[in-house]
Amino acid sequence: MEKHELVIIGAGPAGLSAAIYARRAGIGTLVLEKGRPGGQILTTSRIENYPGLPEATGASLAEALRAHALSFAPRFMTGSVQKLSCCGADRIIELKDGSRITARAVIIASGAGFRRQGCPGEGRYTGLGVSYCAVCDAAFFEGLEVAVIGGGNTAVEEAVYLTGFASRVYLVHRRDTFRADSLAVERALANPRIVPVMDSVLEAIEGSDVVERILVRNVRSGEQRRIPVSGVFIFIGTLPHTEFLEEGLLRTKEGGWIVTDESMRTSVPGIFAAGDVRDTPLRQVITAAGDGARAAMAAYGYLHG
Ligand code: NAP
Repeated sequence: MEKHELVIIGAGPAGLSAAIYARRAGIGTLVLEKGRPGGQILTTSRIENYPGLPEATGASLAEALRAHALSFAPRFMTGSVQKLSCCGADRIIELKDGSRITARAVIIASGAGFRRQGCPGEGRYTGLGVSYCAVCDAAFFEGLEVAVIGGGNTAVEEAVYLTGFASRVYLVHRRDTFRADSLAVERALANPRIVPVMDSVLEAIEGSDVVERILVRNVRSGEQRRIPVSGVFIFIGTLPHTEFLEEGLLRTKEGGWIVTDESMRTSVPGIFAAGDVRDTPLRQVITAAGDGARAAMAAYGYLHG
């Protein structure tokens, strides 16, 4: 069984920042990632609130973070975590391929993934018009009409991005005001290709072989209406990637978000959490990076204190 001083689960902004700080502190560090390093920002078109990088795209920032972390030579390994548990002072990580790794300390930086709507048609048409990633799929909808579901920053900002391809973007939100930042909302509402559909919920996604229309219901009037669209982009928030935690191992909040203190310490000594997977009021690239730095320093204190 491989043994490491520190294992970081996840190579998004939190995990990669933690790797930079851990390696600079001389900690032997393994970074485990199930896919391409970068995390959720890989699916983000534009990032305009990371200080110092006003023109960043998600992909460019992910690559810069990866290259920066690599320069401090942590070990990277591709692997999907099946289970995290404890055995005395050892933290045990089981991978889906059956291998096991032990670590003296672990930083969970596994992030969060999209939430599904759960309406009829969503599963059937995923990949056939239903998408959770505008950067990945917008180009398929050149000159076509699409719907975006949600009222947070992701929905509002990705709706604007989609207008670079689609001829019209219906922005369907369940309330009469958006949750997104006012600047993002102003920009979206000023865009002639965006048509807000307020106070409305998505009831069904319909079509034949591919998506052809959505059924929405106005929550105030109860009126139902069908809107012809070729694509549906669902951005209704995120859920933490914590399915690998042994039941009851760590203190979590409703929904599975991991509870930490200000130093990113979880309820179990030697296990830290950083970034979007944490119970935190603000989930941004900058807060994830800051969390990663603090988690690495707390891990250093745990390992060498
Ligand atoms: P979010 O802020 O949680 O917003 C989710 C949106 O989906 C809300 O408008 C919510 O409606 C709606 N919603 C939730 N469940 C729904 C359901 N079952 N049916 C219909 N609508 C539903 O999620 P997010 O936009 O993905 O953002 C996640 C985090 O990343 C946030 O902290 C956000 O600020 C951050 N973020 C920041 C930026 C940026 O700063 N540039 C960009 C992207 C994301 P209600 O409003 O009614 O609750």
